[in-house]
Amino acid sequence: MPETIGVLHISAECYPAAKTGGLADVVGALPKYLNKEDLVANVIIPCYDLEWINNQSWQQVFEGKVWMGYYDQPFQIMQLQDNNLGFDLFVANIPGKFDRPGIYADPFGNPYGDEVERFVSFQKSVLRWVQHMQIKPDILHCHDHHTGLIPFFVKFCPEYQDLASIPTVFTIHNGKYHGSFGWDLRYFLPHFDNWVGGLIEWEGTINPLASGIKNSWKLTTVSNAYLEELRVDSNGLEWLFHEESHKSTGILNGIDVNVWDPATDPSLTFNIKKSAPYFKRENKRPLCKTFGLNPSLPLVAFIGRFAIEKGADLLPDLVYQTFENGFEMNLLVLGSGDPTIQYALNSMRDNYKGKYNTYIGYNEDLAHQIYAGADFLLMPSRVEPCGLNQMYALRYGTIPIVRRTGGLKDSVTDIGDPDGSGIMFNHVLTGDILHAFYRAIEIYQDKEAIRDLVSSNMQLDFSWEKSASKYINIYQELKTQAT
Ligand code: ADP
Repeated sequence: MPETIGVLHISAECYPAAKTGGLADVVGALPKYLNKEDLVANVIIPCYDLEWINNQSWQQVFEGKVWMGYYDQPFQIMQLQDNNLGFDLFVANIPGKFDRPGIYADPFGNPYGDEVERFVSFQKSVLRWVQHMQIKPDILHCHDHHTGLIPFFVKFCPEYQDLASIPTVFTIHNGKYHGSFGWDLRYFLPHFDNWVGGLIEWEGTINPLASGIKNSWKLTTVSNAYLEELRVDSNGLEWLFHEESHKSTGILNGIDVNVWDPATDPSLTFNIKKSAPYFKRENKRPLCKTFGLNPSLPLVAFIGRFAIEKGADLLPDLVYQTFENGFEMNLLVLGSGDPTIQYALNSMRDNYKGKYNTYIGYNEDLAHQIYAGADFLLMPSRVEPCGLNQMYALRYGTIPIVRRTGGLKDSVTDIGDPDGSGIMFNHVLTGDILHAFYRAIEIYQDKEAIRDLVSSNMQLDFSWEKSASKYINIYQELKTQAT
């Protein structure tokens, strides 16, 4: 019988406890699919003052303190009780650091100013806990820059020398954020010799993303195309991605097909019973009613953060051009972020009443209803490490209209090609998207073609099984290397 491999996922987010985007979805789903006979995967995140976390019962499993350069930071590790997530979930309760109502920012969107201190205390607390575990994990799997210092800490800080032989995997979900800070804050970090300082540095500052890339045993990104793009454009880290190519792999995310199941999803007005077109029609009708849209016209939706990477800055002009050019369709936008974009999108609602509407904010239920009720989902992303929305859309019979970039390239094919699943365009330009809309309207009018497309898209397999096995191969290889 193969020996069991224990993997501890260390992350800032995990669905359903704390989510701002795809990182949470991945950390909340992958471990479930890793938990097999010969693999045990657990997750630890900080303990935020968030509704879901506050409504659970937790049991303290460890208590300790870490030195933060000029004070001792106490912390407790708590384990979720009555757990049906499919993996053990732990939270690090670090008083004064994470007992706040937001993950990275307050409820008004103002980022917390002490991100460095918060996430250094989190990483140190997790390692202190691991040091005291009777059975230690075989692999520490760190996600994004918030946990990017851990591979360096365990390799080079004498304080964690007893963990130095544990392999680390570093996964980049979003390479835009590096979490950099100046050397003047070095006192928060555990002691290390000056000669290794270069291993957490990039261009003169301490760079947790670069540290994760340099010091982890294996580096993964959430799609292959994104890994290739990072070598060409990654905010100054291009050369580093080239340099570390030998240990890098792109693994496309999967989706949690139990949470995202058109047959059982409790957020939907209608679960799928009969045919796909019936499912779509029955979910489109109430959605159009809620937002005052015309159900006989194609409905194109956008769901996501109003950020430049997502191409959301283009949306106001796109809405204007779509309707001023007489495109016969509906547009519905769900999202939040940049206040200028929010304002611009809202201010056009009256001009195009009956065909256009917005919901500004974060609404998980509504997102599910839109995936089920819309005909098309627009993703004009400039950068898309993997993208989950297009996979949810496909599973719920909504045709993705996506820019050819990152994970979108790895998960959608154009309907102009054999077995195509969506509509693709090349540039983040209103004209390119309008052309895609033209194609969308054309296929929408061909009832037989759209029925076949929707039905075959809903059969596509984006479950985690395939991707999880690639992570398992990496863990097995590392465990062999470590012993
Ligand atoms: P990101 O770069 O934001 O992580 P992903 O495509 O990987 O992008 O994941 C986005 C996730 O967040 C999806 O589950 C999507 O449905 C969800 N999401 C984004 N914005 C909203 C919103 N305003 N309301 C509800 N869900 C949202």
